[in-house]
Amino acid sequence: MSGEYSKLLERAYADLPKTVGTGERFEIPKVVGIRMGRRTIIQNFGDISTRFNRDPHHLLKFLSREMATAASLDGARAIFQGRFDVGTVTRLLQIYAQRFVICPICNRPDTKVEKEGRYLFLRCEACGAKSSILPS
Ligand SMILES: [Zn+2]
Repeated sequence: MSGEYSKLLERAYADLPKTVGTGERFEIPKVVGIRMGRRTIIQNFGDISTRFNRDPHHLLKFLSREMATAASLDGARAIFQGRFDVGTVTRLLQIYAQRFVICPICNRPDTKVEKEGRYLFLRCEACGAKSSILPS
C-alpha cells in the first residue's frame, strides 16, 4: 500500500512545472549613487536608461516628480537636489519599469511606448501585446 502511495506522490511531483516563467526576468540595474552635500548623484543613470531602452529625460522626469525634487542630467549622470538613498531610487525604478518598460502579458522588457492622442500604450515586440499605460 505504501508503495502505491509513494508512486502517486512521485507522479504528482513530476507534474509540477520545473520553472516558472521564461527565466528572462528583467532585473533593475544596480543604482550607483553618491551624495555630495545636499545633492544626490546617480553615477550610472545613462546605463540605467539604456538598459530600460527609454529616453533618459523621460526617466529623469518621472523620478524628479516621484521624489518631489529638481533633477538634471550631467552627461551620463543624474543630479537630484536633496539627499536620497539608493534604495529609494531603486524602488522608483521598479515602479517605472512595471509601468513603462515591462510587458504585463509576457513580462519581457522588449517594449516601446506609443502615443495615441492623449493616451500612452506599451507595445511589446516579444508577444505583440498592446497595453495601455495608466495616466499618472
Ligand atoms: Zn509581451
